[in-house]
Amino acid sequence: MENALYVVATPIGNLGDISLRALETLRAADLVACEDTRHARHLLDHHGIKAQTLALHQHNENEAAEKLLRLLGDGKRIAMISDAGTPGVSDPGARAVAAVRAAGFRVIPLPGPNAAIAAMSAAGLADERFLFVGFLPAKVGARRTAIGELAGVQAALVFYEAPHRVAETIADLAATLEPQREIVIARELTKMFEQIEKLPLAEASAWLAADPNRSRGEFVLVVSGPPPREGLDVESDRVLAALLAELPVKQAAKLAAEITGQPKNALYARALALKDENV
Ligand code: SAM
Repeated sequence: MENALYVVATPIGNLGDISLRALETLRAADLVACEDTRHARHLLDHHGIKAQTLALHQHNENEAAEKLLRLLGDGKRIAMISDAGTPGVSDPGARAVAAVRAAGFRVIPLPGPNAAIAAMSAAGLADERFLFVGFLPAKVGARRTAIGELAGVQAALVFYEAPHRVAETIADLAATLEPQREIVIARELTKMFEQIEKLPLAEASAWLAADPNRSRGEFVLVVSGPPPREGLDVESDRVLAALLAELPVKQAAKLAAEITGQPKNALYARALALKDENV
């Protein structure tokens, strides 16, 4: 194993969800940098790994990174883990990685558990794209603004949420986004009380309120992408926008109608609107 920083994904609940390579790396590392040493010890003990640990969390990441650089300079092999899932994804790690890379050392990722990807894999949404948003702002006003800014994004949206805020966040999503969008509420993934529920956004608050257990634990919320604009599908819109960048409105609408088979009038009206948006 070479002198490098190994960024190791660890389980998000089920301790069995750790790769063979992750175990080998944690076993062979000279030091394991971790968010919470007691939490890390639980995982390491479970797998009989007696590694030395160093705390690296959001409040000491810069100083801890300095220590890592000194150790890497001494030829050591360091593994970095967070409390759960993939370091650097809504977790500390990015600043340490940046410092290590800037100092010219290798950073080697060991992929594995991640709550967002686990939720996406079981969501079964039709969207081809998704945007990982992570945690929304805790304050009501900022949260609603943030949701409003995401409303037009042509992709499914993936959020992390804490149990004490999940009801508020779902209510804000339902109030701001189109009610026919679907939400997948993925709770306690990989754990004993795992629950994955897919329902229209408009029904989500009532579903959550129907049983207090549904608000317990850790959450990923996935919201399907926006419904197609009335009269025009997303692809026609894309073609039209591309033509409009090069051609006058009338010509762009005519060509778009030929390419997409959509009605020329609708495309012309949409082209005028797009032009206004870009003025
Ligand atoms: N680094 C982690 C990852 O790769 O997914 C995320 C860490 S972030 C501090 C913690 C949040 O991730 C939780 O509040 C929750 O939104 C989500 N999360 C983590 N574990 C989860 C699980 N087992 N089920 C559902 N959501 C989970």
